[in-house]
Amino acid sequence: MSLRTRVEAALGPQGVLAKRWPHYEERKAQVDLAGDVARTLEHGGVLMAEAPTGVGKSLAYLLPAVLHALDGEERVVVATCTRSLQDQLSERDLPALLEALGLPVPFAVLKGKSNYLCPRALEMADGQGAEEDEAIEALRAWAAVDPTGDLDRFVAPDAEAYRRVRPRVATDPSACTGAVCRRGRECFWARARRVASEARITIVNHALLVRAAEADGLLPSFDVLIIDEAHRLEGVLSSQLEKHVSRHRFDDLLRLTGTVGAPKRGGARATRASGGLLARVRSYALPLLELDPARERLYADLERLSSRADEARAHAEGFFTSIAPGTGVKGGLYGSRQRYRSQGELLGTDLQPLQLLLEHAQVYADALRRTAGAVQSAAESGGMGRDKTGTAGTELSAELELVSGRWERLRADLMELGEALDPDWVYWRSQGAKSQAAELRGAPVSVGDHARRQLLSRARSVVLTSATLSATLSAEGDFDWAAQRLGMGEDLGLPYETATYPSPFPLAQQMRTYVYEGGADEAASIAEVVAELAKATRRNTLVLFTAHQRLRIARDKLRLLLPPDVPLMAQELDGPAGTLIDRFRLSRGAVLLGVQSLWEGVDFPGETLEVLVVAKLPFSVPDDPIVEARGERLRERGVDPFRGDAVPEAVLRFRQGIGRLIRRSDDRGVLVVCDPRLANASYRGPFRAALPVAPDIQRDARALAADAARFLASEMSVTREDV
Ligand code: SF4
Repeated sequence: MSLRTRVEAALGPQGVLAKRWPHYEERKAQVDLAGDVARTLEHGGVLMAEAPTGVGKSLAYLLPAVLHALDGEERVVVATCTRSLQDQLSERDLPALLEALGLPVPFAVLKGKSNYLCPRALEMADGQGAEEDEAIEALRAWAAVDPTGDLDRFVAPDAEAYRRVRPRVATDPSACTGAVCRRGRECFWARARRVASEARITIVNHALLVRAAEADGLLPSFDVLIIDEAHRLEGVLSSQLEKHVSRHRFDDLLRLTGTVGAPKRGGARATRASGGLLARVRSYALPLLELDPARERLYADLERLSSRADEARAHAEGFFTSIAPGTGVKGGLYGSRQRYRSQGELLGTDLQPLQLLLEHAQVYADALRRTAGAVQSAAESGGMGRDKTGTAGTELSAELELVSGRWERLRADLMELGEALDPDWVYWRSQGAKSQAAELRGAPVSVGDHARRQLLSRARSVVLTSATLSATLSAEGDFDWAAQRLGMGEDLGLPYETATYPSPFPLAQQMRTYVYEGGADEAASIAEVVAELAKATRRNTLVLFTAHQRLRIARDKLRLLLPPDVPLMAQELDGPAGTLIDRFRLSRGAVLLGVQSLWEGVDFPGETLEVLVVAKLPFSVPDDPIVEARGERLRERGVDPFRGDAVPEAVLRFRQGIGRLIRRSDDRGVLVVCDPRLANASYRGPFRAALPVAPDIQRDARALAADAARFLASEMSVTREDV
């Protein structure tokens, strides 16, 4: 029997899930999606499957994945976008499914290294104050019994103290000495990888998947790759491939390297601040090399590096201040970015400041590598360290190698960003609003080749699924834009199939939509309609902005317009997104103003969100260096960057945004789009197609709010067939 037939049978009214789960209901779209996934897993190839909220995507891909993993030798990797979705799959969805099926399929969850407790760091951790001491003690007790060391699972007695302590006890990928670490057997990260190597299904997140493509061995090889929330993969790839060099990165490495401290040479004492690796080398290695001729060389290296630190810091400060975009560049509250196309455009003719920094990085890299060698020889010959077997010395040597490698990478990145030679990359300098110094950044113009070669071609079967993959809504959808951005297509040697599934919700009855055409002052008209909605409906209202600046102005105006008992929260200005989301969920009648991260990936079911206001159609900022460079490429190919790139991208983002409103079959909601382009622009078609019901055009904020309030107060009549 084919996998598809077995999957459809398991999901059917007489199937195993209907028998085991009392509340199970067969959903046609879910059965269709599961069947399509099963066919792809069996026969290979790439499937792009767009399934709206409510279809039950996770079960639709987990069921075929489990049965397929049991059928043969193939390994499955499931990649979700966030760690919390990973936890949901690994702690809830997959165990429940395996229990219902009665099948023991070994599975694992693997997160990024820094999410695991590092026993070595925990051993050395010191709290600053009683709360932190208590958090560290609780972590020690937990580490003794928890098999995973996954820091997301630790229930802290004091969340705030734990937030401060967590980075100090987490695995630091740049300081982890891996193979030579003495805590190898207790190491949670090593254990998690071991479990993953024996699992048939491994659940990862996008960031780890992308990193695994770069670092061989990070993830066991796999045959089937299922990527959920696939619309976010390109962004994750782009940010992981992006390079940047800043004064902060220099300072960090200088601090980590440290200085030699107080050398015991002729009784002289150094006056400069000491600490970091070099001080540890002095304490451990120099005494062991008392009679060794290598001692002089090592000592000279340590001294040379120590005396270089202040100068290197000053040169870094001078360089990064001198490349700041300067006056005349559009900036604002959140800083500015300026693209450069060549070294001359960035630095002019004076290359000396760059050369000096390159030289510092090279000297540190070389000297630390030599020091690592000397420490290793001392460990082997002298049996140095606490355990008298030389392991402590071997670990110190490995740390020195790691930091040397970081200096080398810093040098390579600085050289690459300073030269700006790769025609497939885009380079820019960016400067924070309050910072004197700039940083250099660079990223590939397109990540498609990388996605195809390093990720999607690695598996025999690939399923990409999301609620939003097609830019134009039609019966079949239009997946070309999303596919191209991920390097897929017949012409690129990676053909794909597509499928769309209807929403199981009666959206036309659940939603009312409006286009609000306010006055010429955008921020004032948004504030006016939001205030009227808040007063008339007294429901939780989320307002999505595309720019921080507009959000800030609207917030100032809303403070004057809203009744004092309406809680108003603005992302970043009143707290980080995560904190505000939690507060908003617990509030009623609140107004939350958000940008970027609130457009997608957040779930506000039922009363937690009933009014959604989209301040503007979410086009990318045209002066974003990557958007600009991509536009140039398209123009060279005869494609209009606006219609061919900006519109489909904005449509997908718009669909993500409005997808926040209706999360369940009994949700009701009002959508207000404050952008008249939705009513009259020549390109409004695909945006309008994203709306489940045709919008009312309104110019009167109070009338709009009254109508919305009536709708929300009215009963919804939903027949069984609607659902
Ligand atoms: S190998 Fe050692 S340093 Fe690295 S995470 Fe494990 S315990 Fe920590």
